[in-house]
Amino acid sequence: MAGSLTFTMIKPDAVKANNIGNILQMINEAGFRIVAMKYTQLSAAQAGKFYEVHSARPFYGELVDFMSSGPIVAAILEKDNAVDAFRTLIGATNPADAAEGTIRKKYATSIGENAVHGSDSDENALIEGRFFFSGLEMI
Ligand code: ATP
Ligand code: MG
Repeated sequence: MAGSLTFTMIKPDAVKANNIGNILQMINEAGFRIVAMKYTQLSAAQAGKFYEVHSARPFYGELVDFMSSGPIVAAILEKDNAVDAFRTLIGATNPADAAEGTIRKKYATSIGENAVHGSDSDENALIEGRFFFSGLEMI
């Protein structure tokens, strides 16, 4: 039976540092199936909409600037218990708190520039996936 879905982005810091391949390898080795994937760049308006839930937070402007500062890789991933399994793989928001062996421990440099995004619920995984992909692009 098919697993559940999550949504991820490899953020501009990790793309600039040439870590797309390393991060995709970790995702593959952790047993996620790629349902959809694209290399693209968000405008400030698009990044602002994606992270609208954080619009009242003091770091919102910085987050929008950063997320629109360069190319990203967006993907929908499938695995049993995908949202929780992926958040375990990526580690804590702040890489200083991230467990050994997690993507953020290895590749994030700060709480703001933290290499990857992972959805925080099944509901948001669907909303976020549909923000980037049409049904035709999900395989
Ligand atoms: P993401 O949603 O990107 O997977 P997360 O769920 O671990 O990250 P959130 O609380 O949703 O963390 O914050 C969204 C993003 O906002 C973080 O990944 C980070 O890039 C940025 N951010 C969060 N807290 C801070 C902060 N205190 N200072 C600067 N940037 C922050
Ligand atoms: Mg989040």
